[in-house]
Amino acid sequence: MKRGIAFAALLILCAFAVSFSAPVSLAQDTDQMPVAPSATSNTTIVRCGKLIADADEPAIDGGEVLIVDGKVTAVGRNLNAPAGANREDFTKYTCIPGLVDAHIHLWTGPRGKYPSLPLATIRATKAMAYAVDSGIVAARVLGGEGFIDVALKDAIEEGTIPGPHLVPAAHAISIPGGHGDFYDFPPQLTPENFYTPENGFINSPADAEAAVHWQLKYGARVIKILASGGVLSPLDSPLSEQVSEEELKVIVEQARNAHVKVAAHLENLPTIWACLHAGIDSVEHGAGLDQGAANYMKARGTYLTPTLYIANNIVENGAKMHMPDYAIRKANLIWQGELQGFKIALATGLNIVAGSDQTYEPGKGTVRDEIMTDVRFGATPQQALHFGTKASAELLGLDNVGTIAIGKEGDVVAVEGNPLEDIHALERVRGVIVKGQLLPPANRY
Ligand SMILES: [Zn+2]
Repeated sequence: MKRGIAFAALLILCAFAVSFSAPVSLAQDTDQMPVAPSATSNTTIVRCGKLIADADEPAIDGGEVLIVDGKVTAVGRNLNAPAGANREDFTKYTCIPGLVDAHIHLWTGPRGKYPSLPLATIRATKAMAYAVDSGIVAARVLGGEGFIDVALKDAIEEGTIPGPHLVPAAHAISIPGGHGDFYDFPPQLTPENFYTPENGFINSPADAEAAVHWQLKYGARVIKILASGGVLSPLDSPLSEQVSEEELKVIVEQARNAHVKVAAHLENLPTIWACLHAGIDSVEHGAGLDQGAANYMKARGTYLTPTLYIANNIVENGAKMHMPDYAIRKANLIWQGELQGFKIALATGLNIVAGSDQTYEPGKGTVRDEIMTDVRFGATPQQALHFGTKASAELLGLDNVGTIAIGKEGDVVAVEGNPLEDIHALERVRGVIVKGQLLPPANRY
């Protein structure tokens, strides 16, 4: 029985190794299970009906991409592919760069349940497979428990599991009872050792400093502050201000010292101003953003991650999705403010990125839904595609994704239709190539 499980596990590992790491080293390793002889070439040529290599440039009719050892080596028309190269025929489709989600969390099971960290991690692993199968090649994880996001990043980078490049925040920094506190246990049941800076909870500037240090020590590559209240937390109001000016200052200072950026969850104007004055890099959600704050952001290059899809979806479908009453009430409270902030940001020409605020529960919403919602509320398809590829990659500090260009990762997503004419083409993903390897279509949802 045990042997059967080990054998199955080895098969699965081999399947991943073939898809996600260099097949060349596999062939030399005599300890490996024999694998089916496949196209062993390290070179892939992708032929596209149309190629949008860069969201800011016109599409290339009949465009092609040459990928060698996982990296793009040529982009254009009538490319010379060496004999024996793998050929991917996407001539019926439009090819676009892999999508980049600037704001995600991790699916760890049904809302309101508290799985063990191992179970939570196994579920999140499935979420990462869903993300990459959906054409998402990079994502920023803005808050979660137990350093699971850091573990996933390491496992993805070493080729152990499939998934997008991750920029993890580890625990978001919150006050007890604030937007990072999802536990409405009575005081007699609250464990004393839970509300600690290591777990992201702060009550003072000293705690704030410690909280940043702990996140960085265990692998955070961005710091997330929950500066205002939010929608999904049971205990607080989105209109509340939760982190003091001194705490904000300390958090930004410590992040700067470590050369990582700071993202701030903001659902009202006073906290937007407090965080802008502290020097944060991105405003998340941004309900209440007005022209004055937008001008200040424009002058400093501060990014906005609007997250329209999640707020709008709760307002329109919250009851159908069995969301708790408090979440529906609070989503209604901030929705108009988020929409208004997005429209001001568009008109002001701010750096906008696409963040879904989704957990990548298999089969559920992705950054594709955020991009489509941006178009529904006033962005052009070209702008929205820019938000969800180039702009997000830039904010995440990932210069190897965001466009299809020489030297970047060999990631290509094929969609049916032209997303620059109809953004809903993003709902019709027909192929995903990551680092030159076509993902098996059975994994797509
Ligand atoms: Zn979030």
